[in-house]
Amino acid sequence: MAFDFDLFVIGAGSGGVRAARFAAGFGARVGVAESRYLGGTCVNVGCVPKKLLVYGAHYSEDFEQAQGFGWSAGQPTFDWPTLIANKNREIERLNGIYRNLLVNSGVTLVEGHARIKDPHTVEIEGKAYSAAHILVATGGWPQVPDIPGKEHAITSNEAFFLKALPRRVLVVGGGYIAVEFASIFNGMGAQTTQAYRGPLFLRGFDQAVREHLRDELTKKGIDLRFNTDVARIDKQADGSLKATLKDGSVIDTDCVFYATGRRPMLDNLGLENTAVKLRQDGFIEVDDEYRTAEPSILAIGDVIGRVPLTPVALAEGMAVARRLFRPEEYRKVDYQLIPTAVFSLPNIGTVGMTTEEARAAGHEVKLFESRFRPMKLTLTESQEKTLMKLIVDAKTDRVLGVHMVGPDAGEIVQGIAIALKAGATKQVFDETIGIHPTAAEEFVTLRTPVAQ
Ligand SMILES: Cc1cc2nc3c(=O)[nH]c(=O)nc-3n(C[C@H](O)[C@H](O)[C@H](O)COP(=O)(O)OP(=O)(O)OC[C@H]3O[C@@H](n4cnc5c(N)ncnc54)[C@H](O)[C@@H]3O)c2cc1C
Repeated sequence: MAFDFDLFVIGAGSGGVRAARFAAGFGARVGVAESRYLGGTCVNVGCVPKKLLVYGAHYSEDFEQAQGFGWSAGQPTFDWPTLIANKNREIERLNGIYRNLLVNSGVTLVEGHARIKDPHTVEIEGKAYSAAHILVATGGWPQVPDIPGKEHAITSNEAFFLKALPRRVLVVGGGYIAVEFASIFNGMGAQTTQAYRGPLFLRGFDQAVREHLRDELTKKGIDLRFNTDVARIDKQADGSLKATLKDGSVIDTDCVFYATGRRPMLDNLGLENTAVKLRQDGFIEVDDEYRTAEPSILAIGDVIGRVPLTPVALAEGMAVARRLFRPEEYRKVDYQLIPTAVFSLPNIGTVGMTTEEARAAGHEVKLFESRFRPMKLTLTESQEKTLMKLIVDAKTDRVLGVHMVGPDAGEIVQGIAIALKAGATKQVFDETIGIHPTAAEEFVTLRTPVAQ
């Protein structure tokens, strides 16, 4: 049977664009549908605008610290609408780049909501497109729990477009997005509280990292409330909000920001017209080559609920394009040793196992740790401390995990991730000559294991 396309991709986000461009580059006839914004979550309401706001938030510290180096520039003032307008302009520029990337690689872009009609047909605004393969790359969507007053809360989707910086913000959640936005709001000068139902935020990160960040955020003035949750939100006569927590305490605020998880975006996608199966948690079930239970339909990225990060969606998109249209270059995505960063202030960078994971996997571990005040801060009032930690297998000397909390942690750990991928031992770290004076050199000068 002749199809209109060899591959039809639903969703022009991180994974979808990558799969479409590569497939077209390999000679396939490719169509892509996008209902909202080119570049998807990462470009529009995720990684990119988030990082721009984090840069913006850090300036409050930069202005303070500059005084220690002899600078005085009067009382700095901050204008949220200027930052948001400049951010929006940059995102529009990126949207244009994504459009050109698709069109110049020969992909047919169809703007509108796509619905799957049958295993080989996608319908967009009344028009049907047939394809040998359909790739679902529709991403995720923020989820707010069903509490009274939830309509008064915002999520990351809205936070990027707030008209004004709230004077007081309550951040709810304990994942990386919650921690990052607490740092953003606090850095911009909002009085910031963060509430999380567990005993400590960033579950799954190394315990030392979690505790270190807790202490640093507290020093910066964020009011952290653990082991509690919001029971209800009420709008007050003056337009402000009252959040009542489950422990009975009340927080008067101007904005309640929820980052309590993301669900797969399957709204009106038409999966009921196919044999595609969902996992118990609602994400699309795929095999290790991203095939769903419907032979002609594949799925990648956040919608499969594996590792919801842009570089992982990109790798999955590339793997699908190669397997289908350039099988001789196909390699499975390697999910081991994925480095990640949390762009809180200070940043976290991490790759490999946490101490808890290494022990649970049966490793006898040696831990190396350093806590210090970065050189850049020595002329300033800032008491911020950096944490660096190595987890080493005592038997093989292999470095199992590297963790950092401090300025540019993501930049530093990205390089170290290559060493871990190459199987570096602690001896290799020790034999590497440092770059002096940097914070990063600490990773190659850690000599004495800490008592455990
Ligand atoms: C606040 C925030 C911060 C983040 N920060 C980082 C970070 O620092 N680093 C990092 O690696 N990751 C980060 N992420 C995660 C990252 O954005 C996602 O992992 C990534 O975007 C997933 O790519 P995807 O292709 O699966 O989906 P998406 O990028 O979400 O793209 C899906 C696209 O599909 C479209 N779509 C959905 N349904 C349909 C339909 N029926 N028809 C047509 N189009 C449809 C959507 O409009 C969207 O454009 C962040 C996420 C958030 C929310």
